[in-house]
Amino acid sequence: SVPLSFFGGIGAASKHGILIKGSNYMETLSDVTRIVFDKTGTLTKGTFTVTDVQSDQYDRKTFLHLLALAESHSSHPIAKSILEANKEPIHESDVDSVEEIAGHGVKAVIAGHTYAVGNQKLMQQLGLNVPAGTGMGTMVYAAQDGRYIGYAEIADTIKPDSKDAIQEMKAAGIAKTVMLTGDSQSVAEAVAANVGIDEVHAQLLPGDKVDCLESMMTNETEGTLAFVGDGINDAPVLTRADVGIAMGALGSDAAIEAADVVLMNDSLKDIPKAIHISKKTLKIAR
Ligand code: ADP
Ligand code: MG
Repeated sequence: SVPLSFFGGIGAASKHGILIKGSNYMETLSDVTRIVFDKTGTLTKGTFTVTDVQSDQYDRKTFLHLLALAESHSSHPIAKSILEANKEPIHESDVDSVEEIAGHGVKAVIAGHTYAVGNQKLMQQLGLNVPAGTGMGTMVYAAQDGRYIGYAEIADTIKPDSKDAIQEMKAAGIAKTVMLTGDSQSVAEAVAANVGIDEVHAQLLPGDKVDCLESMMTNETEGTLAFVGDGINDAPVLTRADVGIAMGALGSDAAIEAADVVLMNDSLKDIPKAIHISKKTLKIAR
């Protein structure tokens, strides 16, 4: 039977916008020693803006229009930022075909030309060398008919309370923090250094995230593991972790459903709060 105090704990958490889907997750939360984070939309806001555009082939306006046409069918946050930066009209009939390549970018046929728009990995598949990024921004490269034509640099913003939240987690007894991301090593390391994350795994494809988490979980001596995410890609990882924590405001429905704990205010500071409430509740119950 479930001790009555557990209901009190779940109620106390819900007042802070922390939804705990069962009393057993309070036990798990109180034991957590490792927290693994998705980057985009979890540690960062996940809203991108185009900060730089470079093309030797086209002027800025034409180049952005081409990128926007190629990205017009994608719902990725990167695609949204490019569509926002573009001021030219987008006609469905301008795009002959599009294909989204998970963890890489998009391929499109526009006015008889083939375009590839995405990260360095996508360009490598075409045998193309591309300029390195400046650091913080995500580089979106473009190729036309197999030839490199330019890039757009896109910047995300770290959530203002991510750094404090990580510190509070460490004070609450979290021994290790880890980031998993599909983004490049340089962007991942810059964000990790900024917020105080201990370990980084970058350039992961959606499936790689589960593999990475599973290999961490075989190392049981390191203890109970929580995963925090927001995207559709994060759902399988949220399910696999000892306790899955999802962003409830801007998170995807798939992530919210797969999670055991939902943060309605999307604030990572609610994680140390949830840990404290769980520990207090467990103390009363035991
Ligand atoms: P994450 O949410 O961790 O960044 P994703 O799997 O969504 O992981 O994306 C990984 C990387 O693939 C992105 O950082 C980006 O470089 C590239 N990418 C994915 N989709 C697109 C897209 N529609 N346009 C451009 N690049 C993309
Ligand atoms: Mg994400």
